[in-house]
This record gives sequence, C-alpha cells and structure tokens, in this order.
Amino acid sequence: MGIVSKGAKCDVAGCNNDGARSLNTKKVEGAGLNVSSSSKKTVLCKDHYKDWKKETKDDRALERARYDKF
Ligand SMILES: [Zn+2]
Repeated sequence: MGIVSKGAKCDVAGCNNDGARSLNTKKVEGAGLNVSSSSKKTVLCKDHYKDWKKETKDDRALERARYDKF
C-alpha cells in the first residue's frame, strides 16, 4: 500500500524521527506543517502526526483523510 516501509523517516523539515504514518502531502501542508517530501505521500512521526491531528481537529474532512499504518 503506502510508501512507508520499515525505517522510513519523518518528512517534516528538521525532524529525524521514525515515521509512524503516511499522509497525503497536500493535507499535511494544508495543516501548516513544513514537509520536505516531493512525493504525493508524506511520512510523519508520532509527534508530528499528533500535531497534524491537532491542526486538523476542526476539519472533519481532513480528519477522515486516509492514512496507512505499518
Ligand atoms: Zn516528525
């Protein structure tokens, strides 16, 4: 399914944590996160996934965005 494979790193600029989720890059950028991903999918670590959830809390459509688990 997703591009996240074991060992994938978080795509947020300056973050080197292990990736936990992969999300649509547009949705991540739309939430104000600074991602360096050039693909359609962005990998987020647990912390940034939490940030993303926080940023999209008011947006039901974004909150229901598909994500891939490991
Ligand atoms: Zn991160």
